[in-house]
Order: sequence, then structure tokens, then C-alpha cells
Amino acid sequence: MTDKILVVGGAGYIGSHVARALLQENYGVTVYDNLSTGHRENVLDGAEFIEGDILDEKKISEVMSQGFSAVVHLAAKKAVGESMEKPQIYARNNLIGSINVFNAMLENGVKNVVFSSTSASYGNPQYLPLDETHPISPLSFYGFTKIEIERVMDWYSRLKDFHYIALRYFNAVGYAADGSIRGRELNPQNLVPIVMETITGQREKMEVFGDDYDTPDGTCIRDYIHVEDLARAHVASIQRLAQYPQSEIINLGTNKGTSVLEIIQSIERVTGRKVNYEIGPRRDGDPSVVIASSEKAKALLGWEPQYTNIDEIIKTVWNLEQ
Ligand code: UDP
Repeated sequence: MTDKILVVGGAGYIGSHVARALLQENYGVTVYDNLSTGHRENVLDGAEFIEGDILDEKKISEVMSQGFSAVVHLAAKKAVGESMEKPQIYARNNLIGSINVFNAMLENGVKNVVFSSTSASYGNPQYLPLDETHPISPLSFYGFTKIEIERVMDWYSRLKDFHYIALRYFNAVGYAADGSIRGRELNPQNLVPIVMETITGQREKMEVFGDDYDTPDGTCIRDYIHVEDLARAHVASIQRLAQYPQSEIINLGTNKGTSVLEIIQSIERVTGRKVNYEIGPRRDGDPSVVIASSEKAKALLGWEPQYTNIDEIIKTVWNLEQ
């Protein structure tokens, strides 16, 4: 019998790539998504689609009663800035929504979940690269919600027959190289989509948030990881949970930092166009440097990123634009 996986938030940017990776490994896939930021067209042939919200306790429980080998839970609000202005929405969607998903699992005997968590939980680095034992001190309400959900999962795993792997993503970028995921995020808040919108004329110009950081070119450094690499790690996590019912927290990054200006330069190289940008003030809550240690992912999941060159990552975004 094929293992069936429920991908909650599977029509979104990362979720659709996860569902695609699972289909490629011959898992049965059911996508549950409210299409608030995702796209129906991102649910590929072979996956079942159910439109629904994680705040709909009854519906998520009904869906869960179909029986699944594991859940991948990615449904969340994720804009750092918005979470500071509208924490109520983040509390309801992320905290209550996640609890609904986990309770539906407990009610229906579904034991394993892979959860999308974030490097935003670490806050300002005390040392680099950031490993999973680095102290937690989120600078945003968004980061707080993800950490609280990790804590709920931790308690459930101690009290119940419930196992999780929380994957702390660093900066996800890129698209499936075969162009199969076509629906772009609406109103993106992240650097690469914003630079692309500027290149393609959807925006007149963009702002670099601060060039007075203590970094070589003065702009913030992040660890950019290709979304297909992220997606593969979810498959490896499901396989690990099936083999060892042990809960874990695992970083997903590349161990490599790229500055904001280096991203802009890469996009200029790949597209052959100039980016119209100006230097603006710092954005609230931005740590200067965020780089992952991905030793644990390598040791536990046998996972390593395949994309290590930023231009190669950017090419997958540019292919889609064209
Ligand atoms: N950034 C920027 N201009 C923008 C959007 C982002 O300079 O219009 C910077 C941001 O300050 C950060 C980096 O790009 O240093 C990555 O930001 P993003 O929001 O993509 O991800 P985050 O690191 O906040 O999760």
C-alpha cells in the first residue's frame, strides 16, 4: 500500500514544492489548503485537493479520519512585519490553527508530523553558524508563534503517541527547475521576489534596508536555500519518522551567507538587467547576519543542499519569469 501524506498548506510556495517531491517519491498526496496565498494550479496532477482552513476544526478532523502515514504542516501566516502589526491574526492562524491540526491527528491516530519552523526563532546570533542548540529569542511575533508551536509539539510528544520533526528553514528561494510550479506568491514581502518585480517593471524601484551593518558591504547577510532542496528534506524527514519515532528540531540552510547587494548583483548577472534600487533605513527586527549550521540535517537525514551557487538558484526564478 502506498503511504498517504496530508500536506497542510500544500498549495503555497514551499508546500507545493513539498507535495511535488512526495509525488516524485511515489507517495499518495492529499493537499489541504485555504488558497489564501496558495494557488489551485500549484497542486500537481496525482495529488488530491481539499479546500479548507485549519481554523475549521471539524473539517480538518474529518479529512484526517481518512488516515495518513504522516502530516506535513506548512499552513501559516509568515510575514514578519505584518505579524508585528496584527499579532491577533498570527495568534489565531498559527497557534490555534496548528493545535487544530495536531488535535485532529491525535483523534485519528495519525502519529507523525513534519512542521515548517523558522530561523526567525533564533533572533540576533550569539555565534555563527547557528546550530539547533543556539538560544531562542525571536525578534518578531511570527517567530514567537513558530517557537510556541514547537513547544506544544514537544509536550504532545512527551504525553502522547505523537512524533515530530520541526524543520527550521533559513531563506527559501527559487522554483522547481522544470517550471512545474507556476503560481507565484501574491504581494510578496521577501527580497528575491521584490527584486524580480523591480526587474520586470511591476515595481518602479526597491529599497535596500540599511547599508551600515557590520558586514563587508554593509548590507545584511542571509543563508539562501533552494526550495527544491528544502522540499527533499521533508521527504527525508517523513522517512526518518517512519523508521525512528523520535522527535527532532533540524535547521535547513546551506552554511553560506549572501548579502542583500550580492543578491542584487546575482540577479543583474543572471538577467542581464539593472535593478533600480536605493539604500533606505534599516528594517525593524533584522539581525545583521544569519547563517545556518546544517550538520544535523546531514547527520540525521543524510541531507545536503544540491544548489550551492546563488546564480544557479536565481536562474530557476528567472526561467519562470520568462
Ligand atoms: N530586504 C531588503 N529590501 C526588501 C526586502 C528585504 O533590503 O525590499 C532585506 C532584508 O532587510 C533582509 C534580507 O533582505 O536583510 C532578506 O529579507 P527577507 O524578508 O527576504 O527574509 P528574512 O531574512 O527577513 O526572513
